[in-house]
Amino acid sequence: MATKREVLLLVGEDDVVLWSDASDSPVALPDSRARWEAIWSRRERIVEIAHSHPVGPQAFSREDETTMAALVTALGRPITFSVVAPNGMVRCNKKNDEAYEVTLVESEPWWAALLRHASSMQAPDTSKTPKTPQEE
Ligand SMILES: [Zn+2]
Repeated sequence: MATKREVLLLVGEDDVVLWSDASDSPVALPDSRARWEAIWSRRERIVEIAHSHPVGPQAFSREDETTMAALVTALGRPITFSVVAPNGMVRCNKKNDEAYEVTLVESEPWWAALLRHASSMQAPDTSKTPKTPQEE
C-alpha cells in the first residue's frame, strides 16, 4: 500500500492546477524554498492554495494558520485556502489577520479527488463520484 503523505496544490482560475508538491509525511508539509519560489513566481495567477490532511483533521492546523497569515501578508491580497481530508473538504478566504470563516465545501472541485489520490487517502464515499471539468 502506498504511503500516505500531505500534498499541496496551487490552483488558478477555472480550477487549473498550476503547481504541486508533496511531503513524505502524512501529518506535515515542511516549508520549502522551492514551494515559496513557485508561489512567488505564480502570485498573479493563484486563486486557491489547497493541501491534504490524509489522516485528518478536516480543519486547518495551527501551523496552517501561521503559514496562511504569512502568505496573505507576503502576497498582499486575499487568498482562498483549503484542506482536503478523507471525508470532506474545508475552505476559508483569508484576507489579513482578521478572523475568518471556515466553511465545509459541499461541491468539491475536481482536484480534490486528485489530491486524495496523490495523498494515498481512502476514498470517502464511492457513491459520490467527483466530476471532471468536462462533465460540468
Ligand atoms: Zn495542514
